[in-house]
Amino acid sequence: MSKGNIGVTSDNIFPVIKKFLYSDHEIFLRELISNAVDATQKLKTLSSVGEVKGDLGDTRVRVSINKDKKTLTVSDHGIGMTAEEVDKYINQIAFSGAEEFVNKYKDKTEAIIGHFGLGFYSAFMVSKKVEIFSQSYQEDAKAVHWSCEGDPEYTMEDTIKAERGTDIVLHIDDEFSQYLEEATIEGLLKKYCKFLPVEIAFGKKKEWKDGKQVELDEENIINDTTPAWTRKPADLKDEDYDKFYHELYPTQMDEPLFHIHLNVDYPFNLTGILYFPKIKSNLDVHRNKIQLYCNQVYVTDEVENIVPEYLTLLHGVIDSPDIPLNVSRSYLQSDNNVKKISGYITKKVADKLAEMFKNDRENFEKKWDDIKMFIQFGMLTDEKFYEKAVGFALLKNIEGKYFTLDEYKTKVKEAQTDKDGNLVLLYTQDTDANYTYIERAKAKGYDVLLMDGELDVHTMSQAEQKAEENKLRFVRVDSDTIENLIRKEDATKDNYSDEQKEGLRKAVEGLLPESEKLKYYVSCEAAAADALPVFLTQNEFMRRMKEMSAHQQGMSFYGQMPDSYNLVLNTAHPLIQELVAKQTSEQVNEEVEKDGKKETVVKTVYKLEGEDERLKQLIDIALLASGQLKGEALAKFVNRSVELL
Ligand code: ADP
Repeated sequence: MSKGNIGVTSDNIFPVIKKFLYSDHEIFLRELISNAVDATQKLKTLSSVGEVKGDLGDTRVRVSINKDKKTLTVSDHGIGMTAEEVDKYINQIAFSGAEEFVNKYKDKTEAIIGHFGLGFYSAFMVSKKVEIFSQSYQEDAKAVHWSCEGDPEYTMEDTIKAERGTDIVLHIDDEFSQYLEEATIEGLLKKYCKFLPVEIAFGKKKEWKDGKQVELDEENIINDTTPAWTRKPADLKDEDYDKFYHELYPTQMDEPLFHIHLNVDYPFNLTGILYFPKIKSNLDVHRNKIQLYCNQVYVTDEVENIVPEYLTLLHGVIDSPDIPLNVSRSYLQSDNNVKKISGYITKKVADKLAEMFKNDRENFEKKWDDIKMFIQFGMLTDEKFYEKAVGFALLKNIEGKYFTLDEYKTKVKEAQTDKDGNLVLLYTQDTDANYTYIERAKAKGYDVLLMDGELDVHTMSQAEQKAEENKLRFVRVDSDTIENLIRKEDATKDNYSDEQKEGLRKAVEGLLPESEKLKYYVSCEAAAADALPVFLTQNEFMRRMKEMSAHQQGMSFYGQMPDSYNLVLNTAHPLIQELVAKQTSEQVNEEVEKDGKKETVVKTVYKLEGEDERLKQLIDIALLASGQLKGEALAKFVNRSVELL
């Protein structure tokens, strides 16, 4: 038996590493199993080139718990280590690597979390003593027993071990007794080892029988050694992709909409499968995430710095040994490989969508409502993606027909270009609420889009900004009179004087409902004789700013503004004309300043009297048509209507 000091300079770094890694100590299991898998893979490689002769026999990696001895053991039948190798790889290299690691990340606990780099050493995070029993595959090699109690001292001696390979025995610290619980270990194995390329066995398979769980003879294999992403796309059917999707997300009920199989080996190595889930709302977006693997070992499901943000809405796996894992998150984004990977994935996703659009438009349209949010998010945040997606992003009109922006522009160009050459696209966010406005638009031969998605307002603003010479406008059908929304000639004039209109406006203003959240303004416009005598409009710009501020920080100014509406008195309507005519007028003297001198001028002031009930009725009709007449006001309207009848 030999004794020695582990090749580190600092006196005792074990407590240090325990403390720093406290939040993420569970990764020890992943590290040890990765080593066991590596040793097994190496053996298979040696065998394939004839350096190891004969049948390899059982190559499963086994994880076992002994509650009495308080040990957790990871066993493999891989290449094993000779005493010299233990000395070299464990005493010197493994520990010096760990020391370097601690020095580098002393101040950055965050950087350590979830990243590789600790290897074998991480066993000490949860153990008071670690033992290695190893038998090398090399002929004549003696088995070796190494033992260390969490300080720089170790012992090493010859031993007898029947089978080739390595057993790592952890004597679990009392404060980490959870790692002696079957459920904990099974959970960790499912998290980190589900797709490792060598079979991992943990205990025996269990079955429910007569209301009890009974153990079967068969071993309980944790992993799928050839997950779909490691196989050739040509060998896989759609069902296989769907099956794998559910393997990845066992609690997910919905089927994915479609998938993309990623596979590159130059200039970086990456495989994976991305799935498009149905995204109905913001809520369920981040329940299931893209998982990142490194050679089939689970690393993390926080891929925010590896793929563009909108791609994090997708599901699936990315496996790449070329993503640096033991670096800080901010460094990751500036890494050249990561940039290339992100660019590659963006291109693949855009190409797949473009191909679906081109080859099977009908099917693409069927899926549009479910993938729309994802595509819009991508277009708004990634210029490269925008350039590709603008060719297949769709608009839907209220009849449920789909168009690309270009197709739609062509369709409505003739009818909806105004006198200044602006192409005006009309839309609604709610066909029921805007019913009367939509009818007016249709009567004019205009088309109306349905823009009820969470990102539609942003998408419209983007399209306007990108439009040539700024000649594209989206306006909600109720944002002005239809005559004003798409002006064909100069505004139709009525024959009334400003004073006459002022009189009517004042009379109506005095009767408007008062509220802090809603503000009403009154204006007179000659809309059309067959339009309603009064109706509400809401300024497009203000409304849109308010809607956008709901999603964005720093725009709360708009968010706090009251909703303001314009109550239009349609002076082209006979009813309003009758009210104008009913006004009485009187002459009043008014003092005004002109060229610095005070002057008295005679003004005609109009007044409408005795018509309050009718005016109230008209105001309520306008509110009612916009869905704003509620509660007591609605009851009053009903009663008044009965009385008037
Ligand atoms: P890394 O795996 O990153 O090289 P580790 O500290 O985990 O670092 O392991 C150091 C070395 O010890 C490995 O490279 C390997 O040569 C050897 N080793 C560790 N575990 C085993 C094992 N189960 N079987 C054979 N060799 C092993």
